[in-house]
Amino acid sequence: MGSWIISDRRFTTNEVRVGREGPAYFCPNVGYFGGDIDTVLVRPGLQLPPLHKIVSELARQQGYECRPSDKGIYADESISKWGGLEQIGAFLRDVRCRAVLDRFLDDSKSEPDKGVYLNSDRRRYLAFPAIRALVGDRATALIDELISKQIFNRGFIFGCTYCRNADWFSVGDITQEFKCRRCGRSQVYVKSNWKEPDEPAWFYKLDELIYLGYRHGMAASLLALDRMRRKSESSFTFTTDREFWIPGRSKPEVEADFFCVIDGVLTVGEAKKENNLGNGTSEEAAKIKKYRRLVSGLSVRQLVFATLGDSWPQKTVEKVSAAFADVPSVRVLFFAASDLL
Ligand SMILES: [Zn+2]
Repeated sequence: MGSWIISDRRFTTNEVRVGREGPAYFCPNVGYFGGDIDTVLVRPGLQLPPLHKIVSELARQQGYECRPSDKGIYADESISKWGGLEQIGAFLRDVRCRAVLDRFLDDSKSEPDKGVYLNSDRRRYLAFPAIRALVGDRATALIDELISKQIFNRGFIFGCTYCRNADWFSVGDITQEFKCRRCGRSQVYVKSNWKEPDEPAWFYKLDELIYLGYRHGMAASLLALDRMRRKSESSFTFTTDREFWIPGRSKPEVEADFFCVIDGVLTVGEAKKENNLGNGTSEEAAKIKKYRRLVSGLSVRQLVFATLGDSWPQKTVEKVSAAFADVPSVRVLFFAASDLL
């Protein structure tokens, strides 16, 4: 890592190191014979690469290729749409905002104050009354905020006069007419195409990547990361879900929900909606083994297990603690809903 972080073309790996206490370098010059000392003084620039690059480099040295997983891509996209980890963290900690996201996962039948579930794409769309039912008077401001961040997309739901298929159409996709996605016929929309109320109502679609991320449980990872960020005193960097591949294999060897460096301590984390590490003892043991490999391979110093459940079962805590008892340099933390929300 030395020559990467301390960048100066006069240095080789003989002169620069990243050690336990931080970056260090030797003066590359062997003597000084008078004159302006600035002509021989080396003032190296320090650069801190983003954490995902550091993790990739550490993995590469162990023979692994590190890539963002699908979950990681969804989470990165969500963080960027909200404007940062702090912003998405605040949103997810708000129980009523979370209820709006939960409603998009609901696949029960359509109801006026619960939105419309379309069989064509198996997604739910919320109109104003459905959002007001969850957040009350904040509905207008919340919709404005989410539309402007492109987290919500505005559109209509129309049923085709010919084939009877109902679909959601983004406001950008329609004119006076809409084109049925199933039979391809263009038609002017009239009352019979939207049914209720008297005028066509706006329906809001949750951005697809955010929907997929939320459905795959990204809230737990993001809340755990934001909890670490809030507790940090001097510095905090993070990455979302990453996979470690052995080149040429068809599936990843190891996957981790998040990494962060909090006040200089490299931390890896597992975050789950449920409060178990897997279905049954063998899956749990495999998870623990996976984290042992990650901890030793990447010189991780802190391990976080986070759940949106009320608490971790005592048995799981004991098993994990026992597995890391022989590496006292690694701190193991357990977070539950009361720590995250
Ligand atoms: Zn049609």
